Amino acid sequence: MAVSIRNIAGVDVAVAQEAIDALRGSIRGELLDRGSPGYDAARTIWNAMIDRRPALIISARGAADVVRAVEFARDHQLLLAVRGGGHNIAGNAVCDGGVMLDLSKMRGIRVDPHRRTAIVEPGCTLGDLDHDTQVFGLATPVGINSTTGVAGLTLGGGFGWLTRKHGLTIDNLLSADVVTANGALVRASAAENTDLFWAIRGGGGNFGVVTAFEFRLHPVGPQVLSGLIVHPFSDAKGVLQHYREFAVQAPDDVVPWVVIRKAPPLPFLPVAVHGTEVVILAVFYAGDMAAGERALEPLRRYGKPIADVVGPHPYAGWQQAFDPLLVPGARNYWKSHNFTKIDDGLIDTLISYAGKLPSPHTEIFIGQLGGAAKRVPVGATAYGMRDAEFVLNVHGRWDTAAEDEGGIRWARALTADTARFATGSVYINFVTADESERVQAAYGPNYERLVAVKNKYDPQNLFRMNHNIQPAAV
Ligand SMILES: Cc1cc2nc3c(=O)[nH]c(=O)nc-3n(C[C@H](O)[C@H](O)[C@H](O)COP(=O)(O)OP(=O)(O)OC[C@H]3O[C@@H](n4cnc5c(N)ncnc54)[C@H](O)[C@@H]3O)c2cc1C
Repeated sequence: MAVSIRNIAGVDVAVAQEAIDALRGSIRGELLDRGSPGYDAARTIWNAMIDRRPALIISARGAADVVRAVEFARDHQLLLAVRGGGHNIAGNAVCDGGVMLDLSKMRGIRVDPHRRTAIVEPGCTLGDLDHDTQVFGLATPVGINSTTGVAGLTLGGGFGWLTRKHGLTIDNLLSADVVTANGALVRASAAENTDLFWAIRGGGGNFGVVTAFEFRLHPVGPQVLSGLIVHPFSDAKGVLQHYREFAVQAPDDVVPWVVIRKAPPLPFLPVAVHGTEVVILAVFYAGDMAAGERALEPLRRYGKPIADVVGPHPYAGWQQAFDPLLVPGARNYWKSHNFTKIDDGLIDTLISYAGKLPSPHTEIFIGQLGGAAKRVPVGATAYGMRDAEFVLNVHGRWDTAAEDEGGIRWARALTADTARFATGSVYINFVTADESERVQAAYGPNYERLVAVKNKYDPQNLFRMNHNIQPAAV
């Protein structure tokens, strides 16, 4: 007997049942096929546009299972997808017909509150990490939606509310355990396998499967000054111009982001505003509460907001504030640009597109970076966009396939019309499935060095279900 599994050339090949049984017997986790209970749950990821059916799913319980999975895929030359938190918009965590290595059950965390470090397994979500570190009043910079996976976020760079003060997630990565394409488990750090350590800090899953991340932690909270200031859309131009003036002189502790969308039915918004366009300033202060009140005052004083709900919040709670707007199960098509400044022309273009949002869930989002993230030289890690002060992320998001065409057209047009204001680079973690031509631009001056590291660690391109750095031999 044999099972048909897709190989790296995209051809379905017969793999002997004995080989599959041997794999099953060699792992502590589970091996699922299309008939197994739990198969559909395991292959379902955050973006409902992605609906793929692997031939096998290896649900790993530890590094040994990862080694076995990599050996199995390599020996049979099979298409291999690696899933951390399953959030990536491009959907590379799951493949059609091949083997999916599911790490989502590997959720251990070991915090050392004295050394201020945490060792984190690759199935952890940001919420898991915040939960286990905040009990000690500690945190490391991660993203703003707590159900996102630590693994994919870190491997692409990682930014959030603490980034302007403490850098990107990768700037706080001390070491990682990596299973490489030859099945070896190696440590990558500033002292060991330094080329690999450089590459995994931004280069994604191209170089191996990370089975543990070690992070530096910082004292944060547990209460932080944070919240939303909601303005009417009729004031959008003035609000965005004032935001720009405020943001460019803001110290690193201040983090003001912008969301333009139709107002969700939040309890602090008048019912008449629900479902109408609004400009939301989401603000965070990464330091002392009283100093934060003073620092945010010029932003809060401006205009006639519909609501201002800025105040002390538990840090771990603020990290979940956007979760209800970003639940899994919706269809998502995202686009992104980086900017060094916000031109009036950019503001006008965003306002014009915000006037024709394709769905009630679609958002135009601007995050501010700079600060500590910018002070690291671009060659220090693979992450290629240290110069970005602002990141535009167009979250096209709707419920039904019937809305795809109109929503995608709107997102593409907005991205095309704002390109002339952008740097040309893009955050690799925001690149969609149809944008493989942007991978090189995402890494800018670091791309050639990434190819060299790929040539060394994965010359056959076993790890190809990602924003791929192609090795020279393939
Ligand atoms: C709602 C939402 C909010 C977001 N907010 C932010 C944000 O605030 N800041 C930010 O920086 N990013 C943000 N992102 C982007 C996010 O960083 C990426 O989607 C990231 O890839 C998610 O990681 P994951 O582990 O959940 O994804 P997955 O889809 O599981 O993994 C993504 C890819 O990473 C690779 N990979 C995963 N785990 C491993 C591993 N252990 N070893 C090797 N390769 C691996 C694989 O190639 C995989 O295809 C957000 C995304 C979403 C959907």
